[in-house]
Amino acid sequence: MKPSWTNFHSHTFYDDGKSPLEDYIIAAIEQNVKSYGFSTHSPVPFPSTWNMKMENYREYLAEIDRLKEKYKGQIQIYAGLEVDYIEGRCGVHNFRELDYSVGSVHYVNQFEDGNYWEIDYTKTHYDKGLQEIFGGSIQRAFQRYVDLNIKMIEEDTPTVLGHLDKMKMHNSTGKWFEESEEWYQELIEKYLEVIKAKNIIVEVNTRGFYKGYSQLYPSPWILEKVLEKNIPITLSSDAHTTAEITKGFAETALQLKEIGFKTMHVLWDGEWQPFPFDEKGVYLP
Ligand SMILES: [Zn+2]
Ligand SMILES: [Zn+2]
Repeated sequence: MKPSWTNFHSHTFYDDGKSPLEDYIIAAIEQNVKSYGFSTHSPVPFPSTWNMKMENYREYLAEIDRLKEKYKGQIQIYAGLEVDYIEGRCGVHNFRELDYSVGSVHYVNQFEDGNYWEIDYTKTHYDKGLQEIFGGSIQRAFQRYVDLNIKMIEEDTPTVLGHLDKMKMHNSTGKWFEESEEWYQELIEKYLEVIKAKNIIVEVNTRGFYKGYSQLYPSPWILEKVLEKNIPITLSSDAHTTAEITKGFAETALQLKEIGFKTMHVLWDGEWQPFPFDEKGVYLP
């Protein structure tokens, strides 16, 4: 059995990704990827520079169908979205025609002018939201972020939970908090209990690692708890360019093995299934 890679978190020129869909498939095949999912940022009910426009949604699905057919036998292709959960406004339930969904929270509360605080935008924007909306309290902000994720998991359940601790993105220098702080440890514990109860897949997202923003999402100590609770994981790169499709995978797979994971979940023949892996890839049938 020869190992190969898979990736279910990827962006394209329909959102803030860089290339047409077919370019990613050609590059994925070159990078020894055998199963690939597109997860464009879902349309949202207000102007956004990085979410797909609703009028392009049908065309996006049709293009994925065309590629599924064209590359049959070389690579499995799946239609997904990275669905923005926005309380009371949109979520996974708006997009039922997908093969799978990655549920993510990027938009937290709104500023006074109605614009959203986006937790993965610039440092200046992050600091502004933290000050103006949460009075500078990272604990209150993180609590709100986790509450929104929990609401999404319980009420509008995605297949895969996207970058579960993304909000730490601008905390790489420990400016706002240390992950060893008691409030944070307790918050994560509660969060993982909800994930476990719904039995959804947690993605191990390499983007923070290869972009140098932060460590993996989630942090290794959280992954240890994920393993303890027997929560399924999948490895994804959150690729925005074709060069990022398998970026950080070998190092991360090795780290996951060291933590003690034996399998990862992969969408294969239309079903999420566990397969063994190592730093060379996943051992698919
Ligand atoms: Zn995201
Ligand atoms: Zn993404």
